[in-house]
Amino acid sequence: MILGGGPGGYEAALVAAQLGAQVTVVDSDGLGGACVLTDCVPSKTLIATSTTMSVVHGAEDLGIRIGPPPGGGSPGGGSPGGGAVSGRAYAASAGRAGRGLARVDAPRLYARVKALAKAQSADVELRLSAEGVEIINDRGALAGPGTVIAGGQRIQAGAVLIATGAMPRVLPGAEPDGERILNWRQIYDLPDLPTELIVVGSGVTGAEFASAYQALGSQVTLVSSRERVMPHEDADAAVVVEDVFRRRGMTVLGRSRAAAVKRTRDGVVVTLEGGRTVRGSHCLLTVGMEPATRGLGLEEAGVTLDSQGFVEVDRVSRTTARGVYAAGDCTGVMMLASVAGMQGRIAMWHTLGEAVQPIRLDHVAATIFTDPEIATVGVTADAVESGAEDAVAVKLPLVTNARAKMQGFRDGFVKLFARRGTGIVLGGVVVAPRASELILGVSLAVEQSLTVDQMAHTFAVYPSLSGSLTEAARRLMRPAGDRR
Ligand SMILES: Cc1cc2nc3c(=O)[nH]c(=O)nc-3n(C[C@H](O)[C@H](O)[C@H](O)COP(=O)(O)OP(=O)(O)OC[C@H]3O[C@@H](n4cnc5c(N)ncnc54)[C@H](O)[C@@H]3O)c2cc1C
Repeated sequence: MILGGGPGGYEAALVAAQLGAQVTVVDSDGLGGACVLTDCVPSKTLIATSTTMSVVHGAEDLGIRIGPPPGGGSPGGGSPGGGAVSGRAYAASAGRAGRGLARVDAPRLYARVKALAKAQSADVELRLSAEGVEIINDRGALAGPGTVIAGGQRIQAGAVLIATGAMPRVLPGAEPDGERILNWRQIYDLPDLPTELIVVGSGVTGAEFASAYQALGSQVTLVSSRERVMPHEDADAAVVVEDVFRRRGMTVLGRSRAAAVKRTRDGVVVTLEGGRTVRGSHCLLTVGMEPATRGLGLEEAGVTLDSQGFVEVDRVSRTTARGVYAAGDCTGVMMLASVAGMQGRIAMWHTLGEAVQPIRLDHVAATIFTDPEIATVGVTADAVESGAEDAVAVKLPLVTNARAKMQGFRDGFVKLFARRGTGIVLGGVVVAPRASELILGVSLAVEQSLTVDQMAHTFAVYPSLSGSLTEAARRLMRPAGDRR
């Protein structure tokens, strides 16, 4: 029995069905979970459009003239995009190409986002059904360690997986109204792009939405409670992205904690701690998640929750109740779809008696889909700099990479960490467009314990951004005494 049909739940269901188990998934809001319907998939679809806008804004530098041919038509006139907002904020810093000539059709964009999420959810449902998984569309709960109540039935199970996910945290005094004060699940219901968007919270989600809306054409203010944006990420990477944000006209308010958000007649006012106020047309709240673990009968069944309500699990996804496993955001263990899926699969392999390796969180590859993207895997720069990891590091800016020059970008770098002495690759950071695709090379090296010598002997295409990764590996081949 699996409670929750997000990646934690459906990936587990597929593995269990493959191994011949009789599997039932209980889901209250749609297969694919929040990941597919409201969080990961919709946001990355929105970002596909905002990234394209960035390319359009930079097109003139690459020798492309956007607009009517000389002597014909009127610039930007007659666009079929009814209700669209022009990219004026971005255009202020993006050259002539952006001025009203490339415009976002928000209703069409949001319709695309929602349709794509729905289609993806339908694909997940189809796949589960094809594998013989029974689906119950209902809210389920435990009635003891091996008993689930769902769809009006009391169902006994040899094993139960809790994968109920998490919900946006609500800041008291800043409750979303779905119109002007929003969480990220409500933003796709807006009739248009916000003209002046205040994003409260500069973690991964806040940074991604701030980056996307700036490129789409909103004037964005990012309210960050810390000194810099994305305080938990690689500091060099966060600095590059914050620099790009500011250069493109975003206002970034550091060390500013939002105390309250209220509606005005035609917008919102955000009051910061200390009394300063910021006004905009809309406010997007990205202040974290809380686990969806209430009212499920978990503690009554012997499942221990931590002080914030997350389910406590070990590295093979076992909870403290016999036969009850948990996966995904409800565990609070690295809130990523890939981690949720792996926790779910591990739970099934474990309960069905397969050989299983405990999850390796130090091998998780992750990306922040800002523009440029930040992709990371393995050990962190903090761990290396503090001496917690005995490693050497190299950082190569992309500004000298031939391919980066051709593509017309200069913000970004690759960073590689390797064990001192053995040269085994321990991790890396890539800041670049499509860094999410480039990180796989480093991920493979980390997973397979490859050395910098092996990586340096691997062919990279010329010219390519991945060439900077093999070059970074070459730099670390030098004798230890020379390494910096
Ligand atoms: C804006 C945003 C962008 C993100 N982008 C990325 C990304 O790019 N890459 C990435 O790896 N991760 C991303 N994430 C994180 C990712 O979405 C989550 O880690 C992932 O959704 C976790 O999967 P899950 O299965 O634990 O939960 P969910 O996807 O939340 O699914 C849980 C499901 O359980 C259902 N449910 C809850 N309670 C019950 C109940 N009692 N009975 C039955 N069903 C129930 C819910 O309705 C839901 O359908 C993003 C998150 C956010 C907020």
